[in-house]
Amino acid sequence: MRLQNKVAIITGAASGIGKETAILFAQEGAIVIGTDIQQDLLTALEKEHSNIHGYVLNVTDRPAISSFVEEIKNKYGKIDILINNAGITSDALLIRMSEEAWDKVININLKGVFNMTQAVVQVMLSQGSGVVLTTSSVVGRYGNIGQTNYAATKAGVIGMTYSWAKEFGKKGIRFNAVAPGFIKTPMTEKLPQNVIEMMVEKTPLKKFGEPIDVARAFLFLASDDASFITGQVLGVDGGLVI
Ligand code: NAP
Repeated sequence: MRLQNKVAIITGAASGIGKETAILFAQEGAIVIGTDIQQDLLTALEKEHSNIHGYVLNVTDRPAISSFVEEIKNKYGKIDILINNAGITSDALLIRMSEEAWDKVININLKGVFNMTQAVVQVMLSQGSGVVLTTSSVVGRYGNIGQTNYAATKAGVIGMTYSWAKEFGKKGIRFNAVAPGFIKTPMTEKLPQNVIEMMVEKTPLKKFGEPIDVARAFLFLASDDASFITGQVLGVDGGLVI
């Protein structure tokens, strides 16, 4: 068990990468606090896994985040791990992208990471330890047509990860990001078949990844095996970004 008795908060835990990470962390002995806006999916996840506790929490809601973090601190006495994973897409070519689509993606994918980290880091500072991991994307490293907003957020979280690694290193808190390539989840289900085939062709390993591939990277970075690793971006992309 690599995360025995660790208290881990995972955002966007009801689906895809977050769900698989929640299940893997629970199997590794962690007490998992899975947050999401999908109440029914969270309830189903809780029912199947006794070590996963679901909370409806929108990463854009700062007052709710503040009360949530207070509640978790009081209930469990600590927060060891935060996985900033909740994210959305709202794609359009630049000339057609609405201000609403820009604001929505920035608010969830970028400001949501700021909101959650700012609240949780205060608990980590008081305990003198912690690990914060964030889901970036290959798109944050090399861009993508039609994803101006998404690319900005996924590059932005890398910049925040670097900054926080420097800011909190001496306080015993590690920050890293994982940059998945194309992973089979509800987010990528809506991609057109020709785009899927093109991405597989461009990927040296010639396939899409599975959510468990990303969950295993999070497990490594969250565990003591990564105790001298901070400020890094780990690609889980089948070699797409080389
Ligand atoms: P997913 O299956 O759609 O899971 C994301 C979860 O986050 C959903 O349950 C979603 O709810 C929830 N969520 C959305 N807005 C939220 C909010 N404001 N507060 C809390 N939860 C919210 O997607 P995924 O593919 O697992 O993606 C997880 C992360 O990986 C995202 O950050 C994504 O950008 C990143 N990523 C994914 C891929 C990929 O190929 N799948 C590649 C690179 C990076 P709704 O369903 O209601 O939106």
